[in-house]
Amino acid sequence: MRLDKLLSNMGYGSRKDIKKLLKTKAVAIDGEEAKDPSLHVDPEKQSITVLGERVIYQEFIYLMMNKPAGVVSATEDLYDQTVIDLIDPFYAHFEPFPVGRLDKDTEGFLLITNDGSLAHRLLSPKKHVPKVYYATIDGCVTEEDVVAFRQGVVLEDGYQTKPGELKIIKSGASSEIELTISEGKFHQVKRMFEAVSKKVTYLKRLSMGNLELDESLETGEYRELTPEEIEQID
Ligand code: URA
Repeated sequence: MRLDKLLSNMGYGSRKDIKKLLKTKAVAIDGEEAKDPSLHVDPEKQSITVLGERVIYQEFIYLMMNKPAGVVSATEDLYDQTVIDLIDPFYAHFEPFPVGRLDKDTEGFLLITNDGSLAHRLLSPKKHVPKVYYATIDGCVTEEDVVAFRQGVVLEDGYQTKPGELKIIKSGASSEIELTISEGKFHQVKRMFEAVSKKVTYLKRLSMGNLELDESLETGEYRELTPEEIEQID
């Protein structure tokens, strides 16, 4: 990779900025001052330093966010704050985006990355990646609902959902549930409950595939995935 591209990818500015940086003699490759922005470097085999600090090259970032209600799962929005607005500007040069969408009023697990092929795999309907949601429901969730969800319910547009696993945590005038589904239709959880004449009053995603929300993250907080977590995606 060209030296200027690598440094630019790592947040050292535009290619023009890198040219200026090289003129200040701040950059060294294996201890030798680097002057040529077009020089091809291999960050795995060579030591690249800026002002004596080693540049650790990273192509992809993986952030787990506990999405708060009130922000949209998008990279930009004309009216609302986005999940990308919540992350440190340091990450901007990676051009991160959320993997799939949670509704504006939904909280919980959201993966933010710049790894397009991973996002594609996680969202592919063929992969049936399970997603677990916690919800509070206005209405009494019953064993009949558990059976109906297991068989698949018909949404208002006629779509029959794939089987969902509904676990009742608390049943009453207001109920609490956990629902596992392996599809990601628009407003799916809310529409599944509408199909059994009930209303979701609070929704939080707990996990996606093998990745579970780190419960130590307050809403709006995020952290990088650990190498082990990255390894276990899929
Ligand atoms: N289902 C919904 O209804 N909303 C979400 O945000 C996610 C799943």
